Amino acid sequence: MDLTFDRQHIWHPYTSLTKPLPTYPVIAAKGVRLELENGQELIDGMSSWWTAIHGYNHPVLNEAAKHQLDKMAHVMFGGITHEPAIALCKRLAQITPAGLEKVFLCDSGSISVEVAMKVAIQYQHALSKGHKNKFLTFQKGYHGDTTGAMSVCDPISGMHHLFKDFMPQHLFIEEPPNGFDTPISTEEMNALTDFFDKNAKNAAAFIFEPIVQGAGGMRIYSPTYLPVIRNLCDQYGVLMIADEIATGFGRTGELFAVNHASIVPDIMCVGKAITGGYMTLAAMICTKKVAETLCNGEAGVLMHGPTFMGNPLACAVAVASIDLLLKTPWQANVLQIEQTLNRELNPIKAHPLVKDVRILGGIGVLELQNPVDVAKIQKYFVEKGVWIRPFRNLIYIMPPYIIEETDLVRLCEVMKNGLTFIGSLKKEKMIK
Ligand SMILES: *Cc1c(COP(=O)(O)O)cnc(C)c1O
Repeated sequence: MDLTFDRQHIWHPYTSLTKPLPTYPVIAAKGVRLELENGQELIDGMSSWWTAIHGYNHPVLNEAAKHQLDKMAHVMFGGITHEPAIALCKRLAQITPAGLEKVFLCDSGSISVEVAMKVAIQYQHALSKGHKNKFLTFQKGYHGDTTGAMSVCDPISGMHHLFKDFMPQHLFIEEPPNGFDTPISTEEMNALTDFFDKNAKNAAAFIFEPIVQGAGGMRIYSPTYLPVIRNLCDQYGVLMIADEIATGFGRTGELFAVNHASIVPDIMCVGKAITGGYMTLAAMICTKKVAETLCNGEAGVLMHGPTFMGNPLACAVAVASIDLLLKTPWQANVLQIEQTLNRELNPIKAHPLVKDVRILGGIGVLELQNPVDVAKIQKYFVEKGVWIRPFRNLIYIMPPYIIEETDLVRLCEVMKNGLTFIGSLKKEKMIK
């Protein structure tokens, strides 16, 4: 592959074009293995950023794509509908918490967040509360890279100061502390109440990632926050937007993370794993009340409609992926992964380079004391035959649900040994 061209002309996620990080040429993928151009195989620990839950090159998903391809790859969604979209939206309405039933299909997670935010604004406007145009959210969150989504990401890691005069300003409250089993304290409950009390009069919605804050820091917090937020939203006329783009489709051990708390948000965003990692697709799903209120408003319609809305190829694969998920013992598989991660990773908590170990469902996180040298540790991981992509001070895995125990143990081993490698880099630096 022409890696020189790649380096000189192609932007990769969050990289420099003058000092790019190395890229590894992948020519094929199957199951939980990525195949490099040089023939080397890597065990995949990332599911390509939460997406490839069934592994790569899955015969059922391949067949769904091929079958749909022979009918039509795409057709516009304005004034036209088709079976793959109907079948998908039926499933989404059915598997998401009861009450979420009106589905807007779109291209990517960030766009589903943009749509959710516009729905909240239009909803408040329809209630003659156009002044309620701010969003409430936690610090350390991540909701996507488009401007609206970015404006509710963590202000520091999202470098909001760079975009200050360009981007809308919203209202942040300190994130919940780590700990799935650490219930919300009275002080935290009071802080949330004060936050709503002070800001809700100008707020359209509270947007948050339930239980797991992903790209903002791979944090895991208690489900006991959710009913508190739900009550405050109801009390103060603020919509509740659950961003399940990372957590949806089983990753945390429940089909959706809000299920850990049995609450129903007013709006939910799903994406990432929706097509099993095959194509880009996402959805905003809301309640009947939200949809009806919005449609009785001034515009009368939801002001959004992407060109590739409801892409039939993506919808067909999503239908196959959801059916495959529900047909497999996904929950047992995810809980098996969780057990192994607990056994293999928890003992590393004592390592001097490690600040915290966090595990939930199919997610295993090592938070280190210091940021890692991504280029060096990446090279080390590839040499050891695994694909793990750290960021900042976080080395984490979320493998496909189908991963075998031996492969998972190997991933954990390499994470562990990676700490020794990082330690040796430090010593090298000190000697120099
Ligand atoms: C990845 C992610 C997004 C953005 O999705 P894209 O498909 O990358 O636009 C939004 N919210 C959360 C929680 C995510 O993990």
